Amino acid sequence: MTINLNGRLALVTGASRGIGYFLSLELAKRGAHVIAVARTVGGLEELDDNIKALGGSATLVPLDLTDMAGIDRLGGSIHERWGKLDILVANAGVLGTISPIGHVEAKTFEKVMTVNVTGTWRLIRSVDPLLRQSDAGRAILLSSGVAHSARAFWAPYAASKAAIEVMARSWADETKAMKLRVNSVNPGATRTAMRAQAMPGEDPETLPHPQEVAEKIVALADPALNVTGKLFDVRENRFLDYCMPG
Ligand code: NDP
Repeated sequence: MTINLNGRLALVTGASRGIGYFLSLELAKRGAHVIAVARTVGGLEELDDNIKALGGSATLVPLDLTDMAGIDRLGGSIHERWGKLDILVANAGVLGTISPIGHVEAKTFEKVMTVNVTGTWRLIRSVDPLLRQSDAGRAILLSSGVAHSARAFWAPYAASKAAIEVMARSWADETKAMKLRVNSVNPGATRTAMRAQAMPGEDPETLPHPQEVAEKIVALADPALNVTGKLFDVRENRFLDYCMPG
């Protein structure tokens, strides 16, 4: 709990449940005002109650991340109200279906790409100028181990996460001379609705709780962090180097 986020403004997508919900709480615990984005108003309201109980504050934004104009308006609203953003957590995501690549329905593939890739890019575009206004802008993008392990039957989701990581690295390279730090995260298997959808036969009690995972990810919001363009592995609790040339 040594990170002090007092006076910092954090935007978290997928804040209505799972990792995004607990990461929002961890950010609020450390003093950040949380702009919580998701579609499910009930989940956002429950988060708001819990943040208030901690003495923190939040702004709730019910938004579907397939609504690209809505994402643009969100950046505009943050600009008008605060003029900057300190922390972006691009966490919202969908799994699609686990099936052989030839059996994936077009609408499923498109949904995964729209929410996970296009929605994330559109959000980056919307808030990049605001993060550059911060004296310690931090962007945290949720990836997955399958971006690297390329597991059978996970093609759309795995491709979307690989795209997120490459976007994060490109963005980090563009901004490396600035105060903005951009990193991806592999949370590892975590006890959430998405994991239960992916692995219905698995006992959720064998997996880390999202709060435990969020407590590690919150380190990437530290204003003192001096790492950019890397992948943070929650299980190993450290940054990994990308082993690619040039
Ligand atoms: P959950 O399914 O529990 O939560 C996903 C969140 O994304 C929800 O808050 C949901 O909110 C939001 N979301 C989904 N679609 C949309 C949309 N169209 N518009 C706005 N918000 C949306 O997932 P997890 O917490 O498990 O996953 C969080 C991140 O971590 C994801 O990016 C996932 O890929 C990644 N990850 C998770 C792992 C795990 O084992 N759990 C492992 C590796 C990576 P709502 O439905 O209210 O809109």
